[in-house]
Amino acid sequence: MTRVFGIEPFHREIISKSSLLNVLSFLDTHEVETPVLLMDGEQVKRKAAAIGKNIRGSKVFFAVKANPGLEVVRFLAGLGLNFEIASEGELELLARLGVEAGRIITSNPVKTFKFLERAAAYGIKYYAYDSREEVEKLARMVPGAKVYLRLSVPNEGSEWPLSKKFGVEIDEGAALISHAARRGLDPVGITFHVGSQCTNVYNWNNALYKAKILWEIAAGNGINLSVLNIGGGYPVRYTKVVMGIERIEKNIDGLIGELFPPGISVFIEPGRAVVGDAGVFVSRVIGKSRRADEDWLHLDVGVFNGLMESVGGIRYSYIVERNPAAGGGGQSGETDGSARRPWTVAGPSCDSFDVIDTNVMLREPAVGDLVLVLSCGAYTTSYASEFNGFAIPKTLLV
Ligand SMILES: *Cc1c(COP(=O)(O)O)cnc(C)c1O
Repeated sequence: MTRVFGIEPFHREIISKSSLLNVLSFLDTHEVETPVLLMDGEQVKRKAAAIGKNIRGSKVFFAVKANPGLEVVRFLAGLGLNFEIASEGELELLARLGVEAGRIITSNPVKTFKFLERAAAYGIKYYAYDSREEVEKLARMVPGAKVYLRLSVPNEGSEWPLSKKFGVEIDEGAALISHAARRGLDPVGITFHVGSQCTNVYNWNNALYKAKILWEIAAGNGINLSVLNIGGGYPVRYTKVVMGIERIEKNIDGLIGELFPPGISVFIEPGRAVVGDAGVFVSRVIGKSRRADEDWLHLDVGVFNGLMESVGGIRYSYIVERNPAAGGGGQSGETDGSARRPWTVAGPSCDSFDVIDTNVMLREPAVGDLVLVLSCGAYTTSYASEFNGFAIPKTLLV
């Protein structure tokens, strides 16, 4: 069966033409059970190749928490990527795929005992820290580990800030680096995270200036650092235009060249940018209703089983099926059929918190039609719960 979708011009700026064709042809040839996350492997490959390309001395570590789907991670491992993890579950996933310890780092500054025990046994060498307590844990459980200090940096303009929970200021950082050395650890560097979905290029500049000051204080204290781990944060497009990776990286590379000694290692830990715009949630309209002058569209994917980031302000773009039988208009052109109007889009659970977005401009679909939610490859299935008995959607690499 050939399905007809209402593709609008702006959709083409969010999902690449080839990804869209790939997803649509998959839907034409497969009867999918919804909701399901389709991941376009070619797009993942393009993004993986683009990241790090413009930063000299860089090495890319995929932040597994963004999308730990077995097939996705297997695919990335096959492309030769390295990995950043935070838990024994993520480690087990990589171990199952035969990823060697030399390709794994962990940048969670506060780790569980169980994870540290497993990571040490597996042979992982690189760890983050931002407290004396963590230095003690590392000194005891992974003696001699290579450690980098998490510096607190501004997260202004990032849609998903990460700055409050982790990171220390420069003075405390300098003391911790010396302390780590005294406790027999190998303090190799500094890390920071500018915030996820960072759309403010100055965040990287501020972070790099701050890291440089700490780098020099450490050198003054007799500790020569060699690793600058710039974390993640590269954005993908959801609705608004975002800066391209090339532009972000050329800016970072230029500044690193200016501020840091030549020949340092730069670690990059992208999560969202590797997988975010390669994923399309295929969901189904399960109901429509009118509540207090608002039109509500009920989907089988919602806040609890995949679209949790909507709560933090991520706004998705949608492609609605146009089922000719339902009176949604003819098949020619993109302007016929019912006019677009605002909808409140909700998930399937009985919780009234399960509202994905409001004022989403959509043409009216029929109950049973498919709705594609774009840029869903990151922080969707990994955030999902089985609340209310709705299964976590499967991920298919297409
Ligand atoms: C989550 C996380 C990342 C990935 O961030 P993105 O914004 O998805 O690129 C990288 N490093 C650390 C330490 C993280 O916690």
